[in-house]
Amino acid sequence: MDIHEYQAKEVLSNFGVATPSGALAYSPEQAAYRARELGGDKWIVKAQVHAGGRGKAGGVKLCNSENEIHEACDEMFGRKLVTHQTGPEGKGIYRVYVESAVPIDREIYLGFVLDRSSQRVMIVASSEGGMEIEEISAERPDSIVRSIVEPAVGLQEFQAREVAFNLGLEARLVQQMVRTLQGCYAAFSDLDATMVEINPLVITGDDRVLALDAKMSFDDNALFRHPQISELRDKSQEDPRESRAADRGLSYVGLDGNIGCIVNGAGLAMATMDTIKLAGGEPANFLDIGGGASPERVAKAFRLVLSDKNVQAVLVNIFAGINRCDWVAEGVVQALRELEIDIPVIVRLAGTNVEEGQKILAQSGLPIIRATTLMEAAERAVGAWQNDLSQNTKVRAV
Ligand code: ADP
Ligand code: MG
Repeated sequence: MDIHEYQAKEVLSNFGVATPSGALAYSPEQAAYRARELGGDKWIVKAQVHAGGRGKAGGVKLCNSENEIHEACDEMFGRKLVTHQTGPEGKGIYRVYVESAVPIDREIYLGFVLDRSSQRVMIVASSEGGMEIEEISAERPDSIVRSIVEPAVGLQEFQAREVAFNLGLEARLVQQMVRTLQGCYAAFSDLDATMVEINPLVITGDDRVLALDAKMSFDDNALFRHPQISELRDKSQEDPRESRAADRGLSYVGLDGNIGCIVNGAGLAMATMDTIKLAGGEPANFLDIGGGASPERVAKAFRLVLSDKNVQAVLVNIFAGINRCDWVAEGVVQALRELEIDIPVIVRLAGTNVEEGQKILAQSGLPIIRATTLMEAAERAVGAWQNDLSQNTKVRAV
């Protein structure tokens, strides 16, 4: 789960990370009022969307008066901000963060990520802040400082000092940097984060180390342990298909193709998507219905896949171990009876109770296209979708 910049700043400041003073607003009037409360004469108005790259896309504006704050907000509220991280559809702006503008001397990149090869949290930092980490690693790879944290002892002071020195920080700034690094690490590990990114972390003209931007993502599977984090969820920023799936306990990722996939197990789901591609089609989603799926759960999965208007064929691929093919078949039949489905449905079942499952499909009287192997299933799905099916292979609700 991702959260907004202002939320990440609040979380991190509770762990001792210094940030500029700022306040949230839901309207231009409120933004101007917030600026007055903050005081000073230069403010930054920042669109709160779950994506980076806002600066270049017009989502971060420097304002010198209340009037300019109004103008900046008028351009933001209710619009979709399209940055290189949002995809072409963009993300809606419903909140802005008004922050005191700070005099920047230096910009640093700071990230905490999970390093899969060492299975540890890794600090990735660079003296070239302001640029995206992808750009830094392409253009200035030598500027990147990496440091792996030993989980048994956490981020030690000497290690944080080493990072600070490797970034070329002056001795008088090192203690603030250590506090920032340790605060980020503590937030990361205490709250089951998967990513903390501060880009830029700045050194101000008056020698303060401040997080000017902040991004945090959390492990969905651990959210139940952190109610104060899970309540920060903002569904307006999520793909509606994915939020609906998350609400139903299904693991779903929306894609751009038109063959909907209903599969059990993440590995099989990946293999199914690959096989669809191999057969010349494009998957519309990744969907793992999990083990022990009841007919109701399968029917839910159908509803979810069909809510995507791009879906022109559905491929159900089940390898039943803990699952039962007869339950899945019942779920398929139940969904097809309930929903108005006028696109081809291909079902491949294997494993536990496969004969019963096949019988249920055959006896349903529904024009379900059956397949025995995964390759055959993918080819039939792609073939059915490409051939613009004749009426008798279409499934209609009764
Ligand atoms: P994004 O990464 O989405 O583009 P940032 O929060 O990093 O958004 O802001 C973009 C740029 O705007 C920063 O690199 C920084 O130069 C400037 N900026 C952001 N907040 C402030 C601030 N409070 N004071 C001065 N400059 C700021
Ligand atoms: Mg940034």
